[in-house]
Amino acid sequence: MKKIMIFCIPAHGHTNPILPAAKELVSRGDEVRFYSFDEFRDKIVKTGAVFISCDRFLAKLSKQEEENMKNINTTEMSIQDIRITIGMTDFLDSEYKSFRPDVVYSDSACFWGKLSAWKYKVPLVVSTSTFAFNQMSSQYMKNSPKEMAGLIFGLPKVQKEFRRLREYGYEAKSFLSLVQSDNATDSVVYTSKSFQPYSESFSDHYAFVGPSVFSDRKPEKQERPLVYISLGTIINERPDFYNNCIEALKNEPVDVVISCGKALDIGTFGELPGNVKVYPYVDQLDVLSKTSVFITHCGMNSVSESLYMAAPMVLYPQTNEQQAVARRVTEKGAGEILKDDSPAGIREAVMKILGNESYAEAARKCCEDFRACSGAKGAADHIENAPNPTDGRDVIKELNKAVVTEQILYNVILILTGIILFRFVSVNYLWIYIPAAIILSSPVKNIFQRIYYKKLTVKKQGA
Ligand code: UDP
Repeated sequence: MKKIMIFCIPAHGHTNPILPAAKELVSRGDEVRFYSFDEFRDKIVKTGAVFISCDRFLAKLSKQEEENMKNINTTEMSIQDIRITIGMTDFLDSEYKSFRPDVVYSDSACFWGKLSAWKYKVPLVVSTSTFAFNQMSSQYMKNSPKEMAGLIFGLPKVQKEFRRLREYGYEAKSFLSLVQSDNATDSVVYTSKSFQPYSESFSDHYAFVGPSVFSDRKPEKQERPLVYISLGTIINERPDFYNNCIEALKNEPVDVVISCGKALDIGTFGELPGNVKVYPYVDQLDVLSKTSVFITHCGMNSVSESLYMAAPMVLYPQTNEQQAVARRVTEKGAGEILKDDSPAGIREAVMKILGNESYAEAARKCCEDFRACSGAKGAADHIENAPNPTDGRDVIKELNKAVVTEQILYNVILILTGIILFRFVSVNYLWIYIPAAIILSSPVKNIFQRIYYKKLTVKKQGA
């Protein structure tokens, strides 16, 4: 029997996948304490774990900070995470000393879980509710210039907060080590190895256990197609979009269910067409089991649940992480990105999926792949066995070593070209040349890495 502490941030999308693993651990006789927030109390209590409320450590946010959090502003979220961690210092100290855990299972975005496990030297397992992101798979995320600027200008603010952590006894190598997946840390990822991008770049510290769902349901599609629409639980106040969906589908031979979120008043939609139903929240797995097309914001949980229920998707990603998930779905052939969110664009996208069996077939293949994964049992094994043994192979380290020569060559060519421009053409061109060279260096490195990744993984599979 193990004593296990679980930590998670206050978000459904991060909490939900942990629940089946928590239930499995409890059923094995482990003593599980789940540190979370009142909003999630009922779900957590149902797993049999001891719920411990951390609401008092949530900061009172200003209007601007609240807005930033709603828009998933990485700088704001990191600063809040660090402040919560600092605020919890004394509480965590007494919890670790009285409970004496054998393992900490912490959500990947939950700084206080990870930092406290490192501080008290307790084996840590990270719960990853999105794809695992390392330097290869994060190439799937395309930051817009605005987001890049936000990250660059926000970094000094985050670094300033980050430095305060040391005063409270928390040690982390760097801010990046707090947010990125690394090959030395035990991690549970709630997707299959085949759905995870660049899965071969992750060491055997990673357990790809498939979607974590509490449902015995099997896909049972209806004769009259059901179109389900949801933008998740965070950025979902989009009456304009739901109205466009209603307009798009009211005269089509389909039934429509919309989960519009708890913040919107259903009355704002006025009288609904006979084939449309709108709810603040639904039993999503139940609805998805009958769904023929899911219009989704591409939250990792929603997409995984959709594929688990063999439902192809119209993909409407709102953040760059969701864009990465959407891209993976299109690579698997199980959905199409919504390019035009007008009623005509939505109708065309839904009809395209309904009219071409290949999307449903691809979703069924993913469904089989997901259902063959180890699930909550695999997650519980990985948690109980932490620290997990390893064969020591680290593809990321090998990649970094492999591209050193190419990078040096690239830099030498840059310097020589710069000298030629400076000496023989015009100094004026240097103002264009230098920023262009800096901007290009990252994609160039990525290209080298992708070439070597292919070579290394072919070798790995052959070995
Ligand atoms: N969910 C649900 N009912 C709803 C809307 C959402 O049960 O009406 C659940 C859904 O099944 C999923 C989670 O809320 O597990 C949403 O997580 P996701 O990662 O898709 O999106 P987020 O809300 O984090 O943006």
